[in-house]
Amino acid sequence: MPRPIPVPDATSKPFWDACNEKRLIVQHCTYCDRKQFPPEPECRECGWHFHLSWLETSGRGTIVGYSVTYESRIQAWHPEQPFNNVIIALEEDPVINFHSNLPGVPVDEVPVGATVEVEFLEVTDGQLIPEWRVVS
Ligand SMILES: [Zn+2]
Repeated sequence: MPRPIPVPDATSKPFWDACNEKRLIVQHCTYCDRKQFPPEPECRECGWHFHLSWLETSGRGTIVGYSVTYESRIQAWHPEQPFNNVIIALEEDPVINFHSNLPGVPVDEVPVGATVEVEFLEVTDGQLIPEWRVVS
């Protein structure tokens, strides 16, 4: 499936750099003791930026829901239709969600509740992105 190529900015660059090292990190506000993803310039709770740091995750999560796209507005994805859109809750904090097409899992046969693990795919020269696969 063709995937968007990340364009890191000052806020997201640490995340994408970590992906290139096959590490999944999320922001952590040390003041609020809360995690956040996707990366933002400041904490969504306290609004401060100087308490934000990065926290390495286990790279594991649980499938909490999904939908199926039959008719995407993105032309490049039409050859892949229909496809799964899976919501994954991060093991360390279920409020943190990632999205995946869950390659290899048949359309509309997503095992909700199953454990998934991150892996990293190269989408362009030297840039890896997170993808997820079911672990038994
Ligand atoms: Zn905060």
